[in-house]
Amino acid sequence: TTHLNIEKIRADFPILQTTVYGRPLVYLDNGATTQKPRQVTEAISNYYDTYNANVHRGVHYLSQVATDAQEAARSKIARFINAKHDYEVIFTRGTTESVNLVAYSFCKQYLKAGDEVLISGMEHHSNLVPWQIACEDHGATLKVIPIDDKGELILEDLDQLLTARTRIVALTWVSNSLGTVNPVAEIITRAHARNIPVLLDAAQAIQHTHVDVQALDVDFLVFSGHKIYGPTGIGVLYGKEALLNAIPPYQGGGSMIKSVSFEKTTYADLPFKFEAGTPDVAGIIGLGAAIDYVNEIGLDNIIAAEHDLMTYAQQALSGIKGLRFIGDATHKAGTLSFLIDQVHPFDIGELLDKQGIAVRTGHHCCQPVMEHFHIPGTVRASFSFYNNKEDIDRLVAGVEKAAQMFV
Ligand code: PMP
Repeated sequence: TTHLNIEKIRADFPILQTTVYGRPLVYLDNGATTQKPRQVTEAISNYYDTYNANVHRGVHYLSQVATDAQEAARSKIARFINAKHDYEVIFTRGTTESVNLVAYSFCKQYLKAGDEVLISGMEHHSNLVPWQIACEDHGATLKVIPIDDKGELILEDLDQLLTARTRIVALTWVSNSLGTVNPVAEIITRAHARNIPVLLDAAQAIQHTHVDVQALDVDFLVFSGHKIYGPTGIGVLYGKEALLNAIPPYQGGGSMIKSVSFEKTTYADLPFKFEAGTPDVAGIIGLGAAIDYVNEIGLDNIIAAEHDLMTYAQQALSGIKGLRFIGDATHKAGTLSFLIDQVHPFDIGELLDKQGIAVRTGHHCCQPVMEHFHIPGTVRASFSFYNNKEDIDRLVAGVEKAAQMFV
């Protein structure tokens, strides 16, 4: 049970007062992006209004204030994921760019012809396509941990899939299309037993779970700010110091160098080696404010509230005739995917939209998952602690209406 004052929390999110087609908004597309509390937008406008300056190169006062604010945000994030060092937190544009960075730089260093990269059958395209490209570039093979009809990984074959040629495992912690929570600690242990590093896509985990990179001993972990109440355009790559030092830079430019001549450039120390160009200072400060906000509410309270919402929604939706859940994993977080008989998910989504209910329909950037279930897509309701039971009651009423119309 939750100890949150939901009405007070909802007042922090101005958008929750919005109406859509004349109906109060029901926002259940949190898996795509989360809404932002005033505390985050105010931190961003305060930066632009009172201390906007470029970072790390200015010798003037405002530049120092902006630099301090950026680095304070880095520390907050490092503490939030329990990184050993602040400089193991690299700022990127998001999960997608973080994966591309590792797929490029790690593979440039370590992936050779005949080697293998292991992903899973439930990856978001952004943790699949970059590895496919790297494998093509280096003559390596992409291998896949299969999924079963519950939407869980089939781990019986993992020890066969982890071979002497496997250079890295890249795996989603929580599936964005099904909500499955994967047993990542176990998989990391089994990969490490063979000295294979692991990258975790925490895009759908960071806002729903305690993340402790040292306890997990994970090698790389990536996520997007916008899925944890921060702004778009900012994301994080966590990497172990030794690995980040061992791989080459991703982009060249200003800020990532120690010295430059036409003959030879030497690179800056971590984290700046991977942060070429002017960073998204406002985005970093906004993400820092989002982490403060989550800490203030308390991740345990958030997890408990979301668990209650999921349970309530699961029970209420399962009473609808013809409705079936896609993915029935034992451990789920944040997301429910479903279909009604033969009704196309787009039709359900459109009908819900007309009632002011925002869900996502389609393949959710996981076409191989849809292929596994032989479906064109799903209706996905994804929850945040600021949702309330009324949101779910309206969802259920909307889905019931759709079921009556189309079946
Ligand atoms: N991985 C997962 C599991 C996701 O849910 C998402 C966002 N839907 C991404 C990666 C990509 O994140 P972004 O678009 O913010 O880079």
